[in-house]
Amino acid sequence: MCRHGPTAFSFASVDLLHGVPGIFAYDNCPSCRSFFQNPIAVDDDLPRYYPEDYFTHDDLGALKPGGSSGPLQALVRRLVLESRSRPRDHSLDLRERCGRLLHAIGFVRRRALFGLVDELGPPVGADRCLELGPGTGDDMWRLAQLGWKVTGIDLDARAAEVAAARSGCEVVVGSILDHRPREPYGLIYGSHSIEHVPRIRETVTHLHSLLGAGGQLVLIVPNPWSLSTRFYGPLSVVWDPPRHLTLPSVRALRALLGETGFNRVRVRTSSRRAGHYCAIARARRLGTSGVAAWNTRATGAPRVVQATETLLVHLGVEVGEEIIVSATAG
Ligand SMILES: [Zn+2]
Repeated sequence: MCRHGPTAFSFASVDLLHGVPGIFAYDNCPSCRSFFQNPIAVDDDLPRYYPEDYFTHDDLGALKPGGSSGPLQALVRRLVLESRSRPRDHSLDLRERCGRLLHAIGFVRRRALFGLVDELGPPVGADRCLELGPGTGDDMWRLAQLGWKVTGIDLDARAAEVAAARSGCEVVVGSILDHRPREPYGLIYGSHSIEHVPRIRETVTHLHSLLGAGGQLVLIVPNPWSLSTRFYGPLSVVWDPPRHLTLPSVRALRALLGETGFNRVRVRTSSRRAGHYCAIARARRLGTSGVAAWNTRATGAPRVVQATETLLVHLGVEVGEEIIVSATAG
């Protein structure tokens, strides 16, 4: 991430989720505090890291617009979304005041945004959006509901097919580094995808070139310095060997985004996955393996961890399970 080095061996682990054969070692960089797999995968090895039962390979059925929301929820959502796309400096009518008020209530705002992160701006002007590694396609569907014209990109043809069928959006099969769209994007969004990419610096530089002036980049990345990694070490799902190749630190991401030409770089950590991540790590410690551990629900101790992590994050300690990055191009 920082190209300083030298780096030092940190730990080695087997694939705790899908049992892909091998032992995978991670190095840590003392100068930027990032982790990476060393030796790092060669491109030809990547397909065998995603076995048949990887979650993006299941046929989950299509998502339906407005599926679960009644007329009241639809109205609340419309008011909240309108308040996000209006300029702040003009006099407000009653409708706008309601929208502003509803927007200020955290759980209402999160519901209106379909659980997507606050950092995502509204589609104003450039409304084309690219999602990196859209997984099951759920976030593409959500982004489309917020008014974006969404395209996904995935290396894996089966995952692309599942995501396209579920979201109703187009998904391109191929490497992001080879992606050359005819028009620039207004938003590039990647949730738990950039850590799967072999060359992060090259990728982020390329993403900058795909965004129009003022275009936004939003990335969500697991945090190698989260509370679950501190409590559970290699058992934390943050690592997910062999699929997670690089786990950049908050500091390294902030530096990289600046060095690759982005402005208004904001990086924070989020505790929203703390309960689940700690439940998985605890199940692993107690001997549950594979996907069964992943499906563990957060009760008891993980809830305490969730509350503790949320408090620490509010106090400004960067121990949330996820790092959320937002930056603007040009
Ligand atoms: Zn470094």
